[in-house]
Amino acid sequence: MENPRVAVLGLGIMGAGMAGRLLSQGFSLSVYNRSREKAAKFAPGGTFVASSPREAAARSEFVISMVADDDASRGLWLGDQGALAGAQAGTLLVESSTLSVGWVKELARAAAEKNCEFLDAPVTGTKPHAANGELFFMVGGSAPGFQRAREVLSVLGREVLHVGPNGSGALIKLINNVLCGIQAASFAEAMALVAASGLDRDKSLAVLGNSALASPLIKRMLAAMETEDYTPNFPLKLMSKDIGYAMKEAERNGSRLQTASPALSVFRHAVDLGLGDQDFSAVVKSMKS
Ligand code: NAP
Repeated sequence: MENPRVAVLGLGIMGAGMAGRLLSQGFSLSVYNRSREKAAKFAPGGTFVASSPREAAARSEFVISMVADDDASRGLWLGDQGALAGAQAGTLLVESSTLSVGWVKELARAAAEKNCEFLDAPVTGTKPHAANGELFFMVGGSAPGFQRAREVLSVLGREVLHVGPNGSGALIKLINNVLCGIQAASFAEAMALVAASGLDRDKSLAVLGNSALASPLIKRMLAAMETEDYTPNFPLKLMSKDIGYAMKEAERNGSRLQTASPALSVFRHAVDLGLGDQDFSAVVKSMKS
């Protein structure tokens, strides 16, 4: 069977990697990005560079979006030039950005009105995983929609897991990321304590990097600290956004995320210091001020 024609909306760190991966696997692609220069880079490979999400969706059987936040996603899908306005009935619509549960459920209803299948399918993994087809997709939506999407998502991911109905993918992703954010914020505090107390930094890092604490996330932070390279794989401002969305969702469910609140303060302070476009690991630098 021929590959479906795919539209990728949003060509940031993750979307660009995913589009490149699909191209390398022989997919016929349309792309759209708000800043046109990022999309124009794909033109020499024969990719169609759309001037609106609507135009990209109209040419595609499978539309996948990967943008920063709820506002960006809303702007891509809705409105006169939005992807929903261009999508034919039966098009498979996939939102892979990390978004609030409320918004993806609203989007699922809007897609249903257009007789399109919609899946929330956020990911874990970062820049190299996006480029190499090694993401982990957590998918919310109907079982038949999930089966249809597997074909393309399996090209982009090492794992494609159906979590439950629409909103389930978004929710488990926020739960995952609030845990990451809390761990990163508390590690940044610990690093400030190491510095302030006069402990030998390298020996302290050797201890912390070889203990039960040393999760893949902490190892990434240690590597960034060692090289002092905070080039974003996962921008700090997006971690702040995810903690905020998770807290709102917990509130809506009548749950309490007590440790998330101080973690959000730590990340917001880092954004205020101008670190938002650096890697999330740059949160360690925010403790110096
Ligand atoms: P990024 O590099 O900052 O790219 C953000 C993308 O969103 C760009 O295409 C940007 O367009 C677009 N955008 C932002 N605001 C917009 C708006 N108002 N209207 C239209 N487009 C807008 O972010 P990323 O790292 O690729 O992350 C994309 C999504 O994946 C986020 O939801 C993030 O939380 C999630 N995610 C990221 C990672 C990671 O490691 N990076 C891992 C898992 C999940 P411009 O180019 O025009 O600015």
